Amino acid sequence: MPGKVPAGDFPFNVGRSTLNVRRSISLKLTRMHISTIPAPTSPIPVVRVRNLRVGLRREGGAVELVSGVSFDLAAGEILALVGESGCGKSVSCLALGRLLPEPPFTATADELMVAGRDVNRLGAKELRALRGGVLAYIFQDPGAALNPVLRVGTQLAEALRLHHPGLKDVTARCVELLREVGIPEPELRLRAYPHELSGGMQQRVMTAMAVSSRPAVLVADEPTTALDVTVQAQILELLGRLRRERNMAVLLVTHNLGIVAGMADRVCVMYAGEIVETAPTAELLRAPRHPYTRALLDAVPRLGAGRGELTSIPGRVPAPGEYPAGCRFAERCPRVQPACRAAPPPWIEPAPNRGVRCRLPLG
Ligand code: SF4
Repeated sequence: MPGKVPAGDFPFNVGRSTLNVRRSISLKLTRMHISTIPAPTSPIPVVRVRNLRVGLRREGGAVELVSGVSFDLAAGEILALVGESGCGKSVSCLALGRLLPEPPFTATADELMVAGRDVNRLGAKELRALRGGVLAYIFQDPGAALNPVLRVGTQLAEALRLHHPGLKDVTARCVELLREVGIPEPELRLRAYPHELSGGMQQRVMTAMAVSSRPAVLVADEPTTALDVTVQAQILELLGRLRRERNMAVLLVTHNLGIVAGMADRVCVMYAGEIVETAPTAELLRAPRHPYTRALLDAVPRLGAGRGELTSIPGRVPAPGEYPAGCRFAERCPRVQPACRAAPPPWIEPAPNRGVRCRLPLG
């Protein structure tokens, strides 16, 4: 199983850690088994992105937010996009469904395929059918995503009717969906307003809405960041189960490496608008090739590591419009050489299924 990391190999954890922490001799937290991860069942990608570029026109000129991002995602696979805030993860996901308003944004790609549809060529009606129907999203804050003045059932029914206009018993299907995402007493919950539900329940409702049309692809953008750790684990378990049962492809945006270790089959690490490393999860965690990936792993706090300062990455991600001519990580990289600053580093593929954007990769 490509994404599964043996317990104990990954000595830190977030997410489900409080539910199932295993003590090793060194008192390290072990990675949680959030889901068992089957290998992708289809070699044909359900998402194919090539050379995605996103710009933003603003006062003083246009800036580039995302520079040449490319990735594939297969049915039943979970691909994690990781990196610090401002690296372009969420913008890339929104561009996938052409959800960025143009203007002020501009988004171009050589290829933008979702479930056999060329997203670049879709008209307004086809795009509406794609969004929510084939490509669904859940976001960080379910409280903000749900309409506070409408009952949960009304909102869920609206989503169902939009994509299944011929559906006869909408209420019964709503109940079924809430039950499927683990909401107790679904008939009662349908009548609740969002503020009457906990954060975890709200995210379950959002997940029910997102999967109501059986999408081929679910984009989960920091789906558990606003939730407490126990609820995080339940939501992640739910996502893992849904992808297994439905063979759904999941594009998971997170900065939480514990979640990545527990859930993702493959990882794309983003930095300053570029993918700087991609690899199967277990390989990336065991032997990162890019200094930024190494620094991210080193910056995760470890229980039992003793007293001392936490490791951090000095400096900050350059803002769009301030990207240097050479390597964008050069200012923060402990391995930087003059050549790194002179020109952008090449994309190297040191092994099958691995890629790294670095002149002097690790390993
Ligand atoms: S290209 Fe140079 S500066 Fe950039 S990550 Fe690699 S070693 Fe560091």
